[in-house]
Amino acid sequence: MRLVLVGPPGAGKGTQAEFIAANQSVPKISTGDIFRANVGQGTPLGLQAKKYMDAGQLVPDEVTIDMVRDRLAEPDAADGFLLDGFPRTVPQAKVLDEMLAELGTALDVVLELVVDNDEVIRRLSGRRTCRGCGKIWHVEFDATERDGVCDRCGGELFQRDDDKPETIAERLRVYADQTAPLVDYYGGQGKLVGIDATGPVEDVTQRATDALDPFGG
Ligand code: AMP
Repeated sequence: MRLVLVGPPGAGKGTQAEFIAANQSVPKISTGDIFRANVGQGTPLGLQAKKYMDAGQLVPDEVTIDMVRDRLAEPDAADGFLLDGFPRTVPQAKVLDEMLAELGTALDVVLELVVDNDEVIRRLSGRRTCRGCGKIWHVEFDATERDGVCDRCGGELFQRDDDKPETIAERLRVYADQTAPLVDYYGGQGKLVGIDATGPVEDVTQRATDALDPFGG
């Protein structure tokens, strides 16, 4: 299955992407994760991406598209993949369609995780990441026993720059402006399926599984 996940920041794309990719036995390809790994390692790509990420803006298409093209060319993506965080703009979606057409294939389905803005703000502003092991906690929904300390490894928790309130507002603005038009784009291709992404994680995963069932999953 060739699948794209769309939804606003904080919709739970990363979490659901893990489960769905495992269920469908396809690799999860997350552009946000690839950028963060590059930032962590201080690569030239990471240095280029970081300033946009910290400001809540999109990394320019020419950087992002080349990175995805390389990743899709790896052997594990030959028979299917789940893209999380890409495409983020209609131009990226058009290029993806072209890339797949060149390979003689196409997307099967685009799954939209639907969550309203207030819920997104609550989710993102409470998120804390462990410096030690990278685990993500939440001050309200998944709190650690001691404030600011990871229950799993004892590492210090911090707030990702892109989860700070001013950046969240910018990410939502960018989503509405640049990413939400994908819903119409894929709707027009008859590939869009939307699910309610509120409530317990397992419930959302079940809705996703049910929604993907007719597409061979
Ligand atoms: P995410 O973890 O998907 O929210 O991505 C974190 C950040 O990485 C975004 O706010 C962007 O700055 C950047 N990013 C991730 N995917 C893309 C993309 N497809 N196009 C442009 N920038 C991206």
